[in-house]
Amino acid sequence: MGGFRAKMAQFFYGRNGPDRITTVLTWISLPLAIVGIFARGIVGYVFWGLYVLCLGYIFFRMLSRNVYARQKEEQAFVRFFSKIGNFFRLQKRKLTDKDHVYRKCPSCGSQLRLPKKKGKHSVRCPRCRGEFQVKI
Ligand SMILES: [Zn+2]
Repeated sequence: MGGFRAKMAQFFYGRNGPDRITTVLTWISLPLAIVGIFARGIVGYVFWGLYVLCLGYIFFRMLSRNVYARQKEEQAFVRFFSKIGNFFRLQKRKLTDKDHVYRKCPSCGSQLRLPKKKGKHSVRCPRCRGEFQVKI
């Protein structure tokens, strides 16, 4: 088994190899292949085509020698999905946290968690020190 590992390492030397994008695409490609095999007519062709595209892109990434560009893409990919994750975490927090309201600072855009006190208040943003009015 050690020999196999060494051979793999040699093969991927100077290449991007598997990364988070290829891992996710591998998981996406499996159901595509299954539908591609079992669906009849145009649907089967479309899914099989998508599966082949996924597979082609996975191999392209793993074998790419432009490791720098592939890593930049991977970073952008991870950033994008952490943004989506943060968005849903915030929505969940807004729903469950009954004692606070969440407002965006108009000058720097950061989310502020404010105590839920009825009326108009003047708020100072802790990040940019800008002051603005909120109505709760
Ligand atoms: Zn601010």
